[in-house]
Amino acid sequence: MTKKRILILGGGFAGVDCARKLESYFYSDYDIEITLVSDDNFLLFTPMLPQIVAGTIAPRHIVMPLRALCKKARIYESVVRDIDPVQQHVTLEGTPEKIGVRIHYDYLVIALGSETNFFGLKNVEKHSFTMKTLADAISLRNRLIDMLEQAENEKNPKIKKRLLTFVIVGGGFAGVETAGEINDFLHEAVSYYHNIKRDDVRVTLIEAGTTILPGFTKNLSKYAHSRLEKNGIKILVQNAVTSFDGKNIVIKKLSDSSSESIIDSHTLIWTAGVTPVEIIQNSVFKLKNGKIIVNEFLEIPNYPGIFAIGDCSQLDSETNNKFPPTAQLAEAHAKLTAYNIKQMIENKEKKKFEYKWKGQSAVIGKRYGIAETMGMKITGFWAWLLWRNYYLTKMPNIEKRIRVWLDWNIDLFSRIDISRYGFKRDTSKEYRELDEVDDVW
Ligand SMILES: Cc1cc2nc3c(=O)[nH]c(=O)nc-3n(C[C@H](O)[C@H](O)[C@H](O)COP(=O)(O)OP(=O)(O)OC[C@H]3O[C@@H](n4cnc5c(N)ncnc54)[C@H](O)[C@@H]3O)c2cc1C
Repeated sequence: MTKKRILILGGGFAGVDCARKLESYFYSDYDIEITLVSDDNFLLFTPMLPQIVAGTIAPRHIVMPLRALCKKARIYESVVRDIDPVQQHVTLEGTPEKIGVRIHYDYLVIALGSETNFFGLKNVEKHSFTMKTLADAISLRNRLIDMLEQAENEKNPKIKKRLLTFVIVGGGFAGVETAGEINDFLHEAVSYYHNIKRDDVRVTLIEAGTTILPGFTKNLSKYAHSRLEKNGIKILVQNAVTSFDGKNIVIKKLSDSSSESIIDSHTLIWTAGVTPVEIIQNSVFKLKNGKIIVNEFLEIPNYPGIFAIGDCSQLDSETNNKFPPTAQLAEAHAKLTAYNIKQMIENKEKKKFEYKWKGQSAVIGKRYGIAETMGMKITGFWAWLLWRNYYLTKMPNIEKRIRVWLDWNIDLFSRIDISRYGFKRDTSKEYRELDEVDDVW
C-alpha cells in the first residue's frame, strides 16, 4: 500500500478522539501517518472548567498533554493559518523563532471547535471575561479574588457595591455552571474578609431567552432556576446586555424594547454564544450558521476525504441537527470519522452518522444538579453525584481522574483557598508573518 497521510486540525474532544481511534486502527501500520495540529499542547476537559474558577480542582488536573493521549500521531503545537482543499495542504503559522510549515495530506479532519461570539458588541468584548480556555478560568478566579481584596478596604459604599457585583451573561451550560461555582466561591470566601458580609456579594445571571438551560425539560430547567435563586443568584430572563464600559452594564428588557437598566459592576462574564474560529469563517467551504456543512458521512460535500466534526460542523439534513454541540456529540463524530477514513483507505463502504442521545446533566452549585438519562429526570444531590461520576469516567487519562477525585474529596473537608495565581491575562504570541514556509511531505 502507498503511504497515506491523515491530518487532524484541533486538539479538542473531536480531534483527540479521532486521532486516538485512528491510532487504534493503524498503530503498527507504518504506511499510515497521523498528524495532529493544535494551538495548545493539551486537551482541555471543559465540563470541569467552572470548577477551576472556584478552586475546587487544580488547573493542571483538567488538562491532558496531547503527547500522552496520542502515542503514534506526530504533533504540531501551532496555529492553522490556511486550509487549501484543492492543493491538499494546510499552512501553519510560524513564530519569531521558527518559520511556518506547510503540511500535505490525503485525508483531512477539521475539528477546530468554536470561539466566543460577542455579536458585534465591541465594548463588551473589550471589557468582559470569557469561559473557553484554561487561561480564561484562571483570569476569572484572579478577578474575583482581586475584587474581594479591593472591596475589603473600600470606604465608599457605592464603589464597594460595584466591586462586589458580578454579572454572568448566558443561561446555557457554561453560564449556569459558572454562575453556580462563582456564587458558592464568593459566599465561602467572604469568611476571610472582616469588612465584607455575605449579603454584600451580588451575583446576577442574564439570559436573553425565556428560560435558562433551554435544552432540558421545562421542569428541570425550572428546578435549576429556583435552586440558583435560593442560593442567592438573581436571574433575569428575556434581558440582553447591550453595552459594557468596564463599570456600567447596560441591559435591555426584550419584552419591552424601550426599557433599559444599568447594573454597576466591574466584572462581566460573557458566555452568551459561540461562533466558529476565523479560519473557518474565511474558508472556501459552504457554511450554515457559520459552521461547515457536512453530509451524512460527516464529509464536506464536493471535497471527498475532507471531514468536519465537533462544534465547527453542521449536518446538511435538518433531522440530524436536533442535538446541541456538546463533548458527547464531538466524540461520536470523531469515532465515525476515524472509521470512515479507515474504510476509505481499505476501499470499503463508509457508514452514515447516527447518534443515540445518552442524556445530559448540569451542576448548579455545590451538591446540586439536574440530569436526564434513560427516561429518568433527576434533581438535587443525586444528579450532582451522577454528573461527577459520569464526567470522571469520561476523562481519558487515569492519572488525572485520580487527581480530580482527590481534589473533590479534599475540598469536602477543607476551607476554600483564596490565594491568587500569578498570571497575566494577555498571553498573545507575536507570530511571524507567512512570507516563508517549510514544506512537509
Ligand atoms: C465552560 C464550558 C463548559 C462546558 N460543559 C460541557 C458539558 O458539561 N458537557 C458537554 O458535553 N459539553 C460541554 N461543553 C461544550 C464542549 O466543550 C464542546 O462541545 C466540545 O469541546 C466540542 O469539541 P470540539 O473538539 O469540537 O471543539 P474544542 O473542544 O473547542 O476543540 C477545538 C480545538 O481546536 C483548537 N484550535 C482552534 N483554532 C485553532 C487554530 N486556528 N489552529 C490550531 N488549533 C486551533 C483549540 O485550541 C481546541 O484545542 C462546555 C464548554 C464550555 C466552554
